[in-house]
Amino acid sequence: MAERYWNEHIETMPREEMEKLQSERLVKQVKHVWDNVPYYRKKMEEKGVTPEDIHGIGDLSKLPFLSKADLRDAYPYGLLAKPLSDCVRIQSTSGTTGKRVVAFYTQNDVDMWEDCVARAITAAGGTRDDVVQVAYGYGLFTGGAGLHGGSHKVGCLTLPMSSGNTERQIQFMMDLGATILCCTPSYAAYIGETLHEMGYTPDDIKLKAGIFGAEPWTEEMRRQIEQSLGIKAYDIYGLTETSGPGVAFECSEQSGMHINEDNFIAEIIDPDTGETLPEGSKGELVFTSVTKEAFPLIRYRTRDICVLTREKCSCGRTLVKMTKPMGRSDDMLIIKGVNVFPSQIETVLIKDFKAAPNYQIIVDRVGTTDTFEIKVELSDDMFSDTIKDISTLEKKIGADIQQILGIKAKITLVEPKTIPRSEGKAVRVIDKRRLV
Ligand code: ADP
Ligand code: ZN
Repeated sequence: MAERYWNEHIETMPREEMEKLQSERLVKQVKHVWDNVPYYRKKMEEKGVTPEDIHGIGDLSKLPFLSKADLRDAYPYGLLAKPLSDCVRIQSTSGTTGKRVVAFYTQNDVDMWEDCVARAITAAGGTRDDVVQVAYGYGLFTGGAGLHGGSHKVGCLTLPMSSGNTERQIQFMMDLGATILCCTPSYAAYIGETLHEMGYTPDDIKLKAGIFGAEPWTEEMRRQIEQSLGIKAYDIYGLTETSGPGVAFECSEQSGMHINEDNFIAEIIDPDTGETLPEGSKGELVFTSVTKEAFPLIRYRTRDICVLTREKCSCGRTLVKMTKPMGRSDDMLIIKGVNVFPSQIETVLIKDFKAAPNYQIIVDRVGTTDTFEIKVELSDDMFSDTIKDISTLEKKIGADIQQILGIKAKITLVEPKTIPRSEGKAVRVIDKRRLV
């Protein structure tokens, strides 16, 4: 099947043309922010830079960064670049890593955001003939609103389910012939599990694709969801600060997400020094939103760690691709002095042990020593009722984890259905050291 685009002109634009467009937009945006956001203007003045110094994307690194701390400092109106009377919407972050921040949208901002999501839905094969079940949470969270708006834009029949009430999700999915499911990957896994528990198989539903994001998920988890629901699962990325989901999206190649570069200029920096890194380096993703009116962020540090690549993509898009962020710099746990990402653990559990993505990482400190436990829920494939088998399996998992991470974890296998399921973003880590 020929690849479909929502905006072929932009999505397949030659690099020089895209850079020219980005440069023009950047110059205009910096002026807009300088004139209307005293908070950022002060930062620029402190760095000794004015809009006259910015002639194009080559000058990007002259500009100061913005961080989540700035957003909290400036809460709620300090970074607003338009009068409130020009704004039509407020959304908020999920507050995964602390106090929530709010973002404002003009009607043009909402249109731009929904346009980005429409590109994602089209790249996942969606057309006006599709029935899109939106099972991201509705409300302040950008997941529901973003996919809902994008689905309308494409002209799909939109089913605004929001998250939760999983049996009803499946009932509606069947009764109304949903073809595309949008939710967090952890909720997709739970919906798949429930479908089978209700005695159905993928043959009983019409789903063909899923658009999942808002949290890190591994390739192993993707395969498991694809199998359980009988679909192709596409990744979608975004953050409230830059509008919401749709900043980047996956195409038919399913290897990394194309960034909507006409709206968001991406850079990779060294998270410790702030230095811009060359293409292909792993580091912190930084975005400059060049078309947003109400809440334009310049050089916003996402804390998401990934790699950018401009290798030719088989889908024909020329938009730069980002690898799956496997966690934010602040998701990283330091246990006994070793850096640990939950995604490394998920890979071992699903790939080597066919575990369902139901696990919990519990870290604590006794005296001056860190303790590290991983609770893994037994799946049907792993199930065994003899204690001997269970302790052998715990030892095997422990050995594999130690090999990958270099430190020992206590593995505890727990009975099916004892780890809470997620209807939104999954909570995998309980770090008791942070609670004291
Ligand atoms: P919060 O920062 O409170 O979680 P958001 O709901 O705006 O607020 O979430 C944005 C964050 O979610 C991103 O910075 C990123 O860490 C994570 N995220 C979003 N989409 C993906 C994805 N496809 N893969 C991995 N992480 C993602
Ligand atoms: Zn592609």
